[in-house]
Amino acid sequence: MTQGKKLITVLGATGSIGVSTLDVVGRHPERYGVFALTAHRQVDKLFAQCRHHRPAYAVLDLPEDAARLQGLLDEAGCCTEVLSGSAALAAVASAPEVDMVMAAIVGAAGLVPALAAAKAGKRILLANKEALVMSGALFVQEVVANGATLLPIDSEHNAIFQALPADFRRGDEGYGVTRILLTASGGPFRRKPLEELSAVTPEMACAHPNWVMGRKISVDSATMMNKGLEVIEAHWLFGVPAERIEVVIHPQSVIHSMVAYVDGSVIAQLGNPDMRTPIAHAMAYPERVDSGVQPLDLFAIGQLDFERPDFQRFPCLAHAYRALEAGGIAPAVLNAANEVAVASFLDGKLGFDRIAGVIAATLDAVESQAANSLEIVLEADQRARRLASGFVMQSLN
Ligand code: NAD
Ligand code: MG
Repeated sequence: MTQGKKLITVLGATGSIGVSTLDVVGRHPERYGVFALTAHRQVDKLFAQCRHHRPAYAVLDLPEDAARLQGLLDEAGCCTEVLSGSAALAAVASAPEVDMVMAAIVGAAGLVPALAAAKAGKRILLANKEALVMSGALFVQEVVANGATLLPIDSEHNAIFQALPADFRRGDEGYGVTRILLTASGGPFRRKPLEELSAVTPEMACAHPNWVMGRKISVDSATMMNKGLEVIEAHWLFGVPAERIEVVIHPQSVIHSMVAYVDGSVIAQLGNPDMRTPIAHAMAYPERVDSGVQPLDLFAIGQLDFERPDFQRFPCLAHAYRALEAGGIAPAVLNAANEVAVASFLDGKLGFDRIAGVIAATLDAVESQAANSLEIVLEADQRARRLASGFVMQSLN
């Protein structure tokens, strides 16, 4: 690869964020090269991406999938080496050649490789919000201790990052920030009669009005647990306490979030709802590069609306605030219970309107504990998964 190019590892390359990342990479071949691409089980999609981007390594979960991909690549004359398993994920996230790591695996599975990138002092482009929700204090400690750079990809947090002063330091009260205004579209069921929520199907929940995303985050957007996870994510990224992070429903998804200051100023970042903007921003930071996103046409948009969130319609949002306030392992428990409940809903085993109940019951069942080590966090995650699965079973009966 050419000298001076920045080399990127894309964890979760075959997903929605991964594909958008590779689109931005492909627009700037003189600036970016691909070191490694990873996926869970999508051999054929990863094969196509490897042929195009020619990474040094590709990683899949299972050895048999890795062997099949290796065979396809060898036949195609592509010299990518294929590895498998979680140790390989951590290795390609922390290899000395790597400049930046796009953390875009969905859910708790992304935590260990993202932490490996932090420990290796990389520039981490963080889409995998669940990693920070689970282990916020530990994650931030590793970033600081190892001189890593943590840049948010989540559009709201990327917007907040852009609306904060350039030299902002996490948790510093000296900048006059009074509130973070986290915008939310409200998802597809913002106006649906409450009694109809029990009949919501996975297809209905995954049809987001503004964003095209993976299935898990689409369901999270429909329950607004996504916004709850983002409140916790904002707390860890910017060091602002829960009571000063306010959720604002903004159905057009044009303002991606805002920062309010003590002098009355409110600074917002606007753009079309296309993840290539925050991805390109974080990749090129502090420079700017073309992302392929259409210019914002305010005349076509015409109007920007705002509403207060209804915590009765969206109980997951209240559970997330509760977990953040409880601290310790509670956010990891919240996240694990949510992952189990959402997977059960997508499998047709849990009603949409029961997701919040499974999460609340799991939070109630786990005693509070400090999240002092990765082992404690992972143990809490496993315990919460077992409990939540039990509550899903009970709701079947
Ligand atoms: P997705 O489901 O489209 O893609 C997930 C990727 O992770 C795939 O490449 C998949 O192969 C891989 N993966 C899944 N399970 C894995 C496992 N157990 N081990 C290893 N790899 C695994 O998801 P997405 O929509 O791209 O979201 C990815 C992350 O980015 C999530 O944390 C999500 O919350 C966050 N995010 C997404 C968007 C968006 O617009 N899609 C916006 C903001 C934040
Ligand atoms: Mg978001």
